[in-house]
Amino acid sequence: MLAATQLTNIEQALKHYFGYDEFRSGQREIITTALANRDLLVIMPTGGGKSLCFQLPALLKQGVTIVVSPLIALMQDQVQQLADNGISATFLNSSITTEERRERAAAIYNGEIKLLYLAPERLNQEFISNFLVDLHQEVGIAGFAIDEAHCVSEWGHDFRPDYRKLSQLRHYFPKVPWLGLTATATDRVRQDIIKQLDLQDPDVHVASFNRPNLYYEVRRKSTTPYKELLAQVKQSEGSGIIYCLSRKKVDELTAKLSHDGIKVLPYHAGLDSQTRTNNQNSFIRDDVQIMIATVAFGMGINKPDVRFVIHYDLPRNIEGYYQESGRAGRDGEPSHCTLYFGLGDIKTIEYLIAQKVDRETGLALEEEQLIAKQQLRRVINYAEASECRRIIQLGYFGESFPGNCDNCDNCKHPRPISDWTIESQKLLSCVARFGKQGRNFGLAHTIDVLRGSKNDKVLKNGHDTMSTYGIGKDRTQNEWRTLGRSLLHQGLVDETSDGYSVLTMNALSWEILTGKRKVEIAIDLAPPTVETSDITTNTAEIQFLYSRLQKLRKQYADANKVPPYVIFADSSLRLMAQQQPQTLSQFAQISGVGARKLAQYGEMFTGEIRAFRAESGLSVLTESDPTPPMPAPRARKSDVSHTHLETLDFYQRGMSLAEIAEKRSMRENTIFDHLLKLMECGYEVKIDQIVAPEKATAIEQAIAVVGAERLTPIKVHLGDDYSYEEIKIVRARMNMRG
Ligand code: ADP
Ligand code: ZN
Repeated sequence: MLAATQLTNIEQALKHYFGYDEFRSGQREIITTALANRDLLVIMPTGGGKSLCFQLPALLKQGVTIVVSPLIALMQDQVQQLADNGISATFLNSSITTEERRERAAAIYNGEIKLLYLAPERLNQEFISNFLVDLHQEVGIAGFAIDEAHCVSEWGHDFRPDYRKLSQLRHYFPKVPWLGLTATATDRVRQDIIKQLDLQDPDVHVASFNRPNLYYEVRRKSTTPYKELLAQVKQSEGSGIIYCLSRKKVDELTAKLSHDGIKVLPYHAGLDSQTRTNNQNSFIRDDVQIMIATVAFGMGINKPDVRFVIHYDLPRNIEGYYQESGRAGRDGEPSHCTLYFGLGDIKTIEYLIAQKVDRETGLALEEEQLIAKQQLRRVINYAEASECRRIIQLGYFGESFPGNCDNCDNCKHPRPISDWTIESQKLLSCVARFGKQGRNFGLAHTIDVLRGSKNDKVLKNGHDTMSTYGIGKDRTQNEWRTLGRSLLHQGLVDETSDGYSVLTMNALSWEILTGKRKVEIAIDLAPPTVETSDITTNTAEIQFLYSRLQKLRKQYADANKVPPYVIFADSSLRLMAQQQPQTLSQFAQISGVGARKLAQYGEMFTGEIRAFRAESGLSVLTESDPTPPMPAPRARKSDVSHTHLETLDFYQRGMSLAEIAEKRSMRENTIFDHLLKLMECGYEVKIDQIVAPEKATAIEQAIAVVGAERLTPIKVHLGDDYSYEEIKIVRARMNMRG
């Protein structure tokens, strides 16, 4: 429904406000739908770029967009980041004084604010709903965006009763669109969100949960896991999180790593809230490199530049692992997720599961324990798998992934494949025989029988008399386990549960047993060797400049009490180090540099880059240098505001200047000036609507003769058939084209 021309427009707005050159997957479609005022449910993984999906429409629409966000820390973070891009946003919550509240309310009424962040409990207060009704009449409410929308569902992990009442607001503003956003992976919660928020015929956008920039690997814990961890940490650059299973282990590991000179802090529910906040802030501001934490550390961490997440203990389920490891690399930059896996961990978790008891009766919660056990099994399967890690992770969420991701340990370093058909036949014939006797057994017992064990269970069941007893002595227990697991992963045998897991034959198992199918598996018996990080090694020069720019960013961030990532993302700094822009116009081309950041930081960062180049004996350019190596300079974009972009939007939909002037209650001259300004700032504006092509050619020829500096000589040269406006706009186009 929206014209293609408008897409150019939102792309230009993207660069102008946020400094990005292109949309991430899904963003453009969602923003277009939001601009058409439809209800939306956006499901995107962490780091997918959800915020932009409501922020950009908010800027392009009339009125204020109300954003509901569950945590004060999240609100502050977003408002800070928006402010640093020159976008007027504010929040009202319990952390501000009455005086501040009054000032902010006034600014909102004056139409100075495009995004207003509110905590859900506020929205449910009567005076706030009155305020909003008023606001809607005076300024207009463009939409409601409900961030972390899964908080509305009891099925989710962060249920907030206040979210439940949000839908009551709807009947005050029946025509205002609602947009829910979440990274929730389960379908049940998604359905619940639609119901609880009362979304009207929403456009549901489900993005893939694949996070291509994350490298997933599993490492077998060696006999000295701490040594291995320390080596990994020493090799890793940037911020990281290390998850442990218990508070005690967090404290222990914190002490050890500190002792070894790594800057770390702990985070768990046993610390008082002030300490937790302080530690979190130190982490966010890059005062410490690593947070050692239990799973209590999670939501509310907006830090986009976490470069690695290590699970030093086995996570309890795949979803938890996906979400926790997913805190790495929100900014889309390459990041590492490592899971340390040791058989001892299984025992620890099994012990914890057995401890699950009903608080009142003291009885074990059998069903809960059963679910926990099944989940643990899937984690173990994940850890032991030899196939692409993404197949298993995404499969857990019902998403089918073709494999060969080229960014996990199993794809990057596949283990040698060998033919294990005969061994498989031995194992399966044992399973088949159990089945014939009317009772199924688990993998461990099957292996015991194959290897001729004389343990109680074998003897009691009379399995020492089976024909398969002892036929697998030539293989170690470990080899049989690997084979068994591999058969399970490949779906060549089934595992069902009747309290504990047992193996059962399926159609494919029979094909193997009858010689119709071969079995190939990847064998990996030695613990994998510790690998150096996969992060591309830059040349020394780039790396050195990068760290200088990081320092500059940190100094400025500290002076202004904001996290460094608010100033620039790592990816922007890296581009600066690689491309070394020395003039403002070059600087403006860096992804992440929008109009505001150009004005605010351009001098500072290009100055640093020039200084670096001078000190390194490299050539140094200045703004007036005639031959910059990068694309021709454009005027600064900082003067273009959303009112200009609104004009452009109408114009690109084919409206005439007079029509736009009428629609916007502005003078035609003003609209004309908007277009000139947009062109000066590098926006693509087709001028055929204003000047006929033949006239434009004549004007260009005149300019070629008398020069472009002054208008009067051009006008005199052309005569009365040509207006000053026509000349100005053609001249602007010529300037644009350089
Ligand atoms: P989510 O809320 O989905 O976890 P965010 O909205 O916080 O993700 O975005 C994650 C990071 O990606 C932020 O640093 C954001 O600035 C960046 N980002 C978002 N959209 C783009 C884009 N189109 N190009 C480059 N970076 C983007
Ligand atoms: Zn893979």
